[in-house]
Amino acid sequence: MSAMMGNRRTFQFLHTLEAFFVASHKHYGEILHGHNFRCRIKVIFDRPAFTRTCFKQVIRGLDYQHLNRFPYFRRFTPSTENIAQFIAESMAGLGCDVREVEVFETNECSGGVAICGS
Ligand SMILES: [Zn+2]
Repeated sequence: MSAMMGNRRTFQFLHTLEAFFVASHKHYGEILHGHNFRCRIKVIFDRPAFTRTCFKQVIRGLDYQHLNRFPYFRRFTPSTENIAQFIAESMAGLGCDVREVEVFETNECSGGVAICGS
């Protein structure tokens, strides 16, 4: 028992949220095209109502937009990885403790993931 206590680890509860947005992009020489993007984030389970509001705000900002027009995506091509990073940075900028952001172009493939430091 005492040996187990010496190895005790601390855990943090994560909250998973998911949302969809429609957007177009053009990157890596592809032609202009659009997706029904799916975004899943994992956040520290703290202030869930506030986190949901921030997530909705960030996703609403992307919905029905051409991503290449964003100043951010003029610097970083709008790949799923960079879209995930953009969402992670936007959420952090609003004060949310995001740990992971996944963005999918389809259900089968093209997932971009941003892992955020603690
Ligand atoms: Zn695409």
